[in-house]
Parts: sequence; structure tokens; C-alpha cells
Amino acid sequence: PGKKVLIVYAHQEPKSFNGSLLKIAVEELTKQGCSVTVSDLYAMHLGGSPPMPQVVSVLWMLRDGPEMTVNRKNLSSFCKAGLLPLLTGSWKKAGTRFHFLSAQFPLFWFSMPAILKGWMDRVLVQGFAYDLSKSYDGGLLQDKLSLFSFTTGGTTEMYSKGGIGGDIRYVLWPMQHGIMHFCGLKVLEPHICYAPENVSVEKRKEMLSAWTQRLKTLWKEEPIDCSPEWYFK
Ligand code: FAD
Ligand code: ZN
Repeated sequence: PGKKVLIVYAHQEPKSFNGSLLKIAVEELTKQGCSVTVSDLYAMHLGGSPPMPQVVSVLWMLRDGPEMTVNRKNLSSFCKAGLLPLLTGSWKKAGTRFHFLSAQFPLFWFSMPAILKGWMDRVLVQGFAYDLSKSYDGGLLQDKLSLFSFTTGGTTEMYSKGGIGGDIRYVLWPMQHGIMHFCGLKVLEPHICYAPENVSVEKRKEMLSAWTQRLKTLWKEEPIDCSPEWYFK
């Protein structure tokens, strides 16, 4: 209870399987007494060019502690994202802490949808999420937890070591290690729903209740050992 949760969500359709997984997470975590914020990226039109106040408020959620360092590098990313006027205005507002960052999305091209990658590019900038010599276990967002929850078109067999897609962990490497761990976050086991389009309604219900069950004991989970061996051993 009292934990602050941020869920970045990337699916256009609320009635989708991803929409259902999101709804479950919001309901279950809220029930546990967490304060849950959802960034619905398509609804926020994050793909477009206008400045988005939501993105800025998310920045404040992400980082607690001392003010963010402004440097040439992150200034330029904020400018490119059209966020600078908003950001400077709210520079000194106290940031609320978040403890847990979760992403909910369908797997696109062995990766996250571009809109979600764009969120990562714009929000997790230098001086805020990492800095020179402040990365991985020394990243600026350390002591926070992250989790990737996603759906696939391919089946479990396809994403096994001998399968056509190779081990799903190869896909997780850039996201979990290259982004979250790089910024200092600890990584919980991913939550993957394989091929929801190709299974029976009963199986889909089962997958959804497995997610509910997992969320019930989420805070007791140990992070994975996010090292190259975890992915490629
Ligand atoms: P949906 O189609 O929304 O859901 C599946 C079914 O579940 C639907 O019938 C829906 O009605 C039903 N449902 C929703 N909620 C409930 C509920 N509460 N109870 C019961 N049933 C429910 N896949 C890969 O494996 N690898 C890739 O590299 C890849 N690249 C892609 C690239 C692009 C550009 C696109 C568009 C797709 C790609 N895919 C890939 C496929 C994609 O990952 C899947 O289509 C997606 O993960 C399915 O999730 P969804 O939420 O859209 O499913
Ligand atoms: Zn790692």
C-alpha cells in the first residue's frame, strides 16, 4: 500500500487484450492501495508534435530527490520533443516519487511499438535517467522497479531457443537491460501473454486471471539478475 505506480500503455483499442491487461493492473494495484497513474500514449498523441503536458508531469513522477541537472544534452532532447517551455515552468515543482514503472503493449517487430519507444527516448534522457558514468547499477533511477508486460502474435514454441523467433529473452535484452537496467531500475520477470488472438476464450480468461494472481504478490518478487548471462546463457 502507498506504492506509486506508473503504467505506460500503448494500444489504440480499449477492448483489446492489452486493454484488458491494463484494466486488471489498474484495478488490482488500486485495490492494494497503490496510487496508479496510466500514461495512455496513443490517447496522449505522443506520436504527434504538439507539446504534451502529460509527458512533463510524468517526468516529475519519475524522479524524486534533487532537481534534475540541466545540461546541453537533455536541453536539446526536450527542445526537440517540444517540451522545454512546459518543463522549465514546472522545473521546481516537487516531483512525486514513483516506485514501479510498468509498460503494457503488444510486441511489434520484436520490440515495443514506436510510440512507446518514443516515450522512452523523450522521458529517459541524460541528466535525468542516467548520466556519464551513472548507468546500470549506478543509473539515476535506481531503487525503482520495472516490468514489461506484453502480448505477442507468435506462440511460446516460436519464442523458444530452438524456435523460429529464438528465445524471447533475446527480445528482452534491449528493453530490460539496454533501457531499464541502464537507467538503474531493477527488472522484474516480464509478463508475456503469447498469441492471445489464437487461443480459446477460456484460455484468454486464464491468461487474464494469471495476471491478476501475479499482481497480488508482485511486491514480494525478487528482481531478475539482469546480466548478459540471463539473456544469452
Ligand atoms: P487483441 O486482438 O486485441 O486480443 C485478442 C483477443 O482477445 C480478441 O479477440 C479480443 O476480443 C479478446 N479479448 C480482449 N479482452 C478480453 C477479455 N477480457 N476476455 C476474453 N477475451 C478478450 N507479433 C510477434 O509475435 N512478433 C512481432 O514481431 C510482431 N510484430 C508486429 C508488428 C506490427 C506492426 C503489428 C501490428 C503486430 C505485430 N505482432 C507481432 C502481432 C502483435 O504482437 C499481436 O497482434 C498483439 O500482441 C495481440 O495483442 P492485442 O491486444 O492487439 O490482441
Ligand atoms: Zn541488465
